Amino acid sequence: MISQPHPHLRRRRRTKIIATIGPASSTPEILARLFQAGADVFRLNFSHGTHEDHAARIQAIRALEAEFGRPIGILADVQGPKLRVGRFGGGRVHLQTGQEFRLDLNPTPGNSRRVELPHPEIIAAARIGTMLLLDDGKLRLRVTHTRDDHLETEIVVGGPLSDRKGVNVPDIVLPIPALTAKDRADLAFALDHGADCIGLSFVQRPEDVAEAREIAAGRAWIMTKLEKPQALDNLDAILALSDAVMVARGDLGVELPPEEVPLAQKRIISAARALGRPVVVATQMLESMINAPAPTRAEASDVATAVFEGADAVMLSAETAAGQYPFEAVNIMDRIVARVERDPGWRAITEAARPAPEHSSADAIAAAARGVAHTIGAKAIAAFTSSGSTALRVARERPDCPVLGLTPDVATARRMAFTWGVHALITPLTHSMTETVSRAVRLVQQEGFARPGEEIVVVAGIPFGKPGTTNALRVASVK
Ligand code: PGA
Ligand code: MN
Repeated sequence: MISQPHPHLRRRRRTKIIATIGPASSTPEILARLFQAGADVFRLNFSHGTHEDHAARIQAIRALEAEFGRPIGILADVQGPKLRVGRFGGGRVHLQTGQEFRLDLNPTPGNSRRVELPHPEIIAAARIGTMLLLDDGKLRLRVTHTRDDHLETEIVVGGPLSDRKGVNVPDIVLPIPALTAKDRADLAFALDHGADCIGLSFVQRPEDVAEAREIAAGRAWIMTKLEKPQALDNLDAILALSDAVMVARGDLGVELPPEEVPLAQKRIISAARALGRPVVVATQMLESMINAPAPTRAEASDVATAVFEGADAVMLSAETAAGQYPFEAVNIMDRIVARVERDPGWRAITEAARPAPEHSSADAIAAAARGVAHTIGAKAIAAFTSSGSTALRVARERPDCPVLGLTPDVATARRMAFTWGVHALITPLTHSMTETVSRAVRLVQQEGFARPGEEIVVVAGIPFGKPGTTNALRVASVK
């Protein structure tokens, strides 16, 4: 339980930071330093580590929460199917550009003419002309003949290929579900251990999201990782079923040509922003900091771009999970984000990109709260929220002043760690408008967002504590 209020531990930025944890960052001391440096959410990557490792990390994060009195989000990222070729006699071969190469179901070690492809689904789904990308897209094969039990291909881009290298098939929707048996076990584990959000890999279709949603049954958010071009063809339907999304540029960058990735990122962010779904930009943000204490200028620019585009959060992967400079990486990310958000140009861009309110009383109140706050120069918008939805709708308006998400529900408070601009606090349910306003004033002041004589905007729903009732707005002065 989060009880001890910590004096004013608040961020000086709106865009959140997600730090992946791993061998370089799992002790309570290191987690505490990452949190203090700016990590709002910790990501557990279920591609690595045992359930025992993850359980210890979750426990350490919850202890940290209690120590600092601040809700912290936990993202449990499940691996999804990994498609791979089989093994070769001698471990590796060289594929010659222009030659033929066969992929079959025969587990006999391969050579420079053939290898096992232990995925009958790919063999069944491939068509003449389908491209197969091997080893993170370094090698490319084009299917020339399809047979029941094998594919003949032409080597379009050759090179060295070794045992169990990855296969990507960007052109066709594969009849492979996003959740493997391992993923289902990891998902059950993560839900049982109180993860706030599940990162779902290998999503191709809305049904993939629907399935995970059904299993989670509201116990955690579903964050769809957009890492396959097939998903981009179904973006709106996928977004509608997702609580949040990630621009997963690692796999997306293998399956799409490099020049397409920045455009996909922009498109995903603006579609997610329009719906008010938190959107995370991930992978290689400060990649060189795995081995160096400072980023390249191109990396700094990449982080800044994500902030300008309106991402809710930016993410670190190996930089914090396995790198030599995890604290420096969080620290520099915090500095870049905070600097962009002080820029008047960022304000103007954010303002111009603001989506219109949807036709609901919650959106009308959220848009009005922003308008009133700007008109009177309010120091904060305090949003009472039981499910988190009111705080999300206010954040969607991207107001100039901080948003406080006030909730009796610890799970809601933790989920707000993923959301742009929201400083979440756990506070018991209020029962009248007078109590609601005085609670808001006290908490805003306690957290150091406003001083006596300054004004705040309060939004709430009556009846209190019933989700989906956002219908009240008050202006209050701090005394
Ligand atoms: P991964 O996902 O690192 O788990 O593969 C992120 C990505 O693909 O960018
Ligand atoms: Mn991925």
